[in-house]
Amino acid sequence: MGGERIREVLYKRGVEGILIFSSENIRYLTGFSGSEGFLLVGEGEELLMVDGRYITQAQEEARGCRITLVEKGIKGVAAHVSPLGLKHVGFEAAGISVALFEQLREELEGVELVPIKEELERFRGKKTTEELTSIRGAVDIAERAWESVLETLKPGTRENELALELEYKMKKEGSEGVAFDLIVASGPRSALPHAQPAPRSIEEGDLVLFDFGSCCRGYNSDETCTVVLGRATKEQKRVYQVVREAHDKAIELVRPGVMLTEIDAAARGHIHEAGYGEHFGHGTGHGVGLAVHEWPVVGKDSQDVAEEGMVFTIEPGIYIPGWGGVRIEDMVMVTVGGCEILTTISKDLMIVK
Ligand code: ZN
Ligand code: ZN
Repeated sequence: MGGERIREVLYKRGVEGILIFSSENIRYLTGFSGSEGFLLVGEGEELLMVDGRYITQAQEEARGCRITLVEKGIKGVAAHVSPLGLKHVGFEAAGISVALFEQLREELEGVELVPIKEELERFRGKKTTEELTSIRGAVDIAERAWESVLETLKPGTRENELALELEYKMKKEGSEGVAFDLIVASGPRSALPHAQPAPRSIEEGDLVLFDFGSCCRGYNSDETCTVVLGRATKEQKRVYQVVREAHDKAIELVRPGVMLTEIDAAARGHIHEAGYGEHFGHGTGHGVGLAVHEWPVVGKDSQDVAEEGMVFTIEPGIYIPGWGGVRIEDMVMVTVGGCEILTTISKDLMIVK
């Protein structure tokens, strides 16, 4: 998968090979799902270098590759790459630290190392049918788990208990770990966009924000539902309504060719006009796939346009310090005529009795 796309990058950047370090790109290109490895993609072959922990797994998963055992990290990689006599080698700039890069440069003396950034972030942007099947699988697992956990929400339930239960249910339904540290934030804590679940007891009248995702064959889901326990106040309803409208306006715009900044502006503009502009401090969305946060960004500074096959989130929010917050997040896929919402839980305000 992706072999042709990366070879286009080889020709475009005039390098004879590209060294890949991130586990997501290695998985995308070879099928190897281990957490550490090094991949050299050349014109004719792919050389996957792994240490002793992963050699059997690599042989089973990465069938199209030449697989070799590498010891001593970058030093070992250089020992395998040097004899190939390559003059120009690209490397995944976002996948390596400065310290390791310097080591690589020392070990590969005489080889021109070309940093490659955007192309390697972008080439996973448009999803294949097979990838979409995995993403839908992840959505399905996460949503079933969330619906069953929501039934246990009552006055006195603690945030961290709910988060733990949600993680347990997702894993039981088949999730490979969790997509990210799950967020359950209630009452005033829901104003923290990336809150850690705390032992706070949830009480009647609290907003409860759940941001959750599971992982299926390496692909992630990402969704946020904000509910109210007991009875919603006028202001809670009003804030929810504004976020919901911002979310809907953004989604209505999604179709091939539209600038991602326009989608962001639709959500942001609506929240601003309603008087809550200063309380929406993050981007409207991000790509989701093998990584939970990946290209493209749906934000103010985005330079990109929506293309058929892209999968990204739409997740506006309003966070009022000391009061609480609302975020509504769905995953959408760009289709020929618009988009399909991949997440299926209704985003009408849910009041849990
Ligand atoms: Zn999320
Ligand atoms: Zn997200």
